[in-house]
Amino acid sequence: MDAHRRRAWEALEIGPLWRLRPPPPDSSEPLTWTQLQQTVSGCKACVLADSRQQTVFGAGAQPAAWMLVGEAPDQHEESSGEPFVGLAGQLLDQMLAAIGVNRSTDVFVTNALKCATPANRDPLVEEVSRCAPYLKRQVDLVQPRLILVLGQFAAHSLLGTDASVVSLRGVVHTYASAAGPIPLVVTHHPAYLLRNLPEKAHSWSDLRLARRTFDTYPVTR
Ligand code: SF4
Repeated sequence: MDAHRRRAWEALEIGPLWRLRPPPPDSSEPLTWTQLQQTVSGCKACVLADSRQQTVFGAGAQPAAWMLVGEAPDQHEESSGEPFVGLAGQLLDQMLAAIGVNRSTDVFVTNALKCATPANRDPLVEEVSRCAPYLKRQVDLVQPRLILVLGQFAAHSLLGTDASVVSLRGVVHTYASAAGPIPLVVTHHPAYLLRNLPEKAHSWSDLRLARRTFDTYPVTR
């Protein structure tokens, strides 16, 4: 609410009207892929529903051997309805190709948040938490052999931490999916790399770690 409207309501001695939002999605409900898509497209569980053009569910193979998780859709992604488009998407495609991964056939890509943030601001903790059950269900349905996390907010959602990418990258984490443990590697978001070219060397190292882990991690599912 803007300050002008709030002052007017206070002068009239009427309080602001708060709109009760629906509860966060229930992660215990085993939605099918189609049900999950429909639920996300109509979700109003956080304030981002008010400003979005459309939700961005994710794209790619399903099930997929690799699952990539970014942060929140930017304006290009929101317009196209697909994650990782534009220059960041092209860089991601090149990075994947360099480790022998084909985005069209081997990968499902999505974001921790399914709605864009106003002016591409950082997601709030509550927004990440409200959207987390959707991501959790996507992981359970995609059943990837490895999760590559791109950026800190995706790491916060999947690992339940507020640590930085710098402190999380370089090691293999474990994500506890419904079907069992999945190795998880954290690296920088491609959009960050476009602004910080020297960090590309670190990301290259992370991708090679992801590739080695994918090739050697025991397949139990
Ligand atoms: S960001 Fe997630 S929780 Fe918030 S409205 Fe969009 S889909 Fe719902």
